Amino acid sequence: MVDSIFRTRSLGVAASGIPDQYADGKAAKVWEAYIGCSQTRTDQYRKWISDLLRSNNCRHILDVACGHGVDSIMLLEEGFDVTSTDASDKMLKYALRQRWNRRKQPQFDKWVIEEANWLTLPEDLENVDDIPKQGFDAVMCLGNSFAHMPDFEGDQRNHMAAIQNFMGLLKPGGILLIDHRNYDEILATGRVPAKNVYYNSTDIIGIKCSNLYVDGNPTMVTMDYYMDVPSIIKNSNIKLETADKEHHFRLSYYPHRLQEFTNLLQKVCGTNATHDVYADFKKLNEIDKPAYYIHLVRKS
Ligand code: SAH
Repeated sequence: MVDSIFRTRSLGVAASGIPDQYADGKAAKVWEAYIGCSQTRTDQYRKWISDLLRSNNCRHILDVACGHGVDSIMLLEEGFDVTSTDASDKMLKYALRQRWNRRKQPQFDKWVIEEANWLTLPEDLENVDDIPKQGFDAVMCLGNSFAHMPDFEGDQRNHMAAIQNFMGLLKPGGILLIDHRNYDEILATGRVPAKNVYYNSTDIIGIKCSNLYVDGNPTMVTMDYYMDVPSIIKNSNIKLETADKEHHFRLSYYPHRLQEFTNLLQKVCGTNATHDVYADFKKLNEIDKPAYYIHLVRKS
């Protein structure tokens, strides 16, 4: 329904089923530039997530929204075993290239990368040998990825099915890390906060935000990303048309509000699963107007 009203992504992508919003390659091409220098990728993030995983005795991590691999690579460098999946072959292409380039390093040599959709995760991973029998120590879905899944039916059935699939791949006591942007703030202001705890790029000109309401309910947030072409060309090896000043891509999101997403997780994971929320890697009460909320659910 919503899909027929508003063009949710760049031209050239069929709009049926759960869309791969990266299929036209426009976002994938410049994702590295959007993230900024992955070496310096907010040191705070690297430390926060590594400490959190270590303190929870996590060794083998499933990254279900690996994209072009930035989080997975960070964890491989920190010595974790990582299995990485994503639905977009356009994004995975970059992750596969990184694995090939670094294959002489043992962690990268055994890095497993597979194409998998959250809605069919158990089947998509059926023939992958490195799936631990008792389940993964942690499943992560970070970088505002989960919000990519629309809710065309209006009852969040796909959101619930995806979370159920994540939980099903965890060992008892394992943890799910799943985040979303602060959509409460985005809906209240109609703008995307400028600060970003994950990404530190200097190549972003701006992000424009449009909010779609259906029957008074916020249903979709669309972000138009404008990247600075001369700056990307100067700072990276990405090949872009030098005559263009801007590179534009568009992505749409389901606006998960903090309380509603908390309720959803509790509904799917059960009241025995413990649930904590972090705001920009800090405790909730330590920060005003965070850019991201990160939920940690421990499987009972
Ligand atoms: N975590 C990465 C990627 C974020 S982009 C980072 O922080 O850079 C979001 C990713 O979610 C994309 O690569 C997209 O293909 C993936 N994604 C969106 N919907 C998906 C689905 N239904 N199943 C699997 N992956 C999905």
